[in-house]
Amino acid sequence: MMLFYFRCFIFFLVAIVTEIQCKNAALVIIDVQLCFLPNGSLAVPDGDQVIPVINDIRSKHKDKFSLVVLSQDWHCSDHISFASQHNEKNPFEYIQLLYDDKGLLCDSTHNCSVVKYNITQRLWPDHCVINSTSADISSKLTRSFNDLIIKKATTAKV
Ligand SMILES: [Zn+2]
Repeated sequence: MMLFYFRCFIFFLVAIVTEIQCKNAALVIIDVQLCFLPNGSLAVPDGDQVIPVINDIRSKHKDKFSLVVLSQDWHCSDHISFASQHNEKNPFEYIQLLYDDKGLLCDSTHNCSVVKYNITQRLWPDHCVINSTSADISSKLTRSFNDLIIKKATTAKV
């Protein structure tokens, strides 16, 4: 459970990533989506408490950030990290995933002649599915028309 909490904490971590010429910086806001907020399918307890902190940072330091990036978990409904995609597996259990030297998953549709990567994958409840309400970024988050949104985890087998 601690690993789960840590993972989710990372999702909510607000990071000033890049100092550009010592004057400009980027603010990166990670996965502040309904699925990770209270009552979400993969909720972090009290996860919504990060929202006023982020809004405060944006308000007080808006001249500092030349770029604001929001990441958005954006999974296919058959994403391999979903427990629902594996027989007799439950959320938060682990499985092993094998990939070949090209990074392709070894499974019933792709027979690998060489296994290069053996990855331990934690399984999650279905969450942040493409175009679902749960994938929405919280409306309580201060937004700007020129925020850059990066959708991630969009490939089913990665
Ligand atoms: Zn995810």
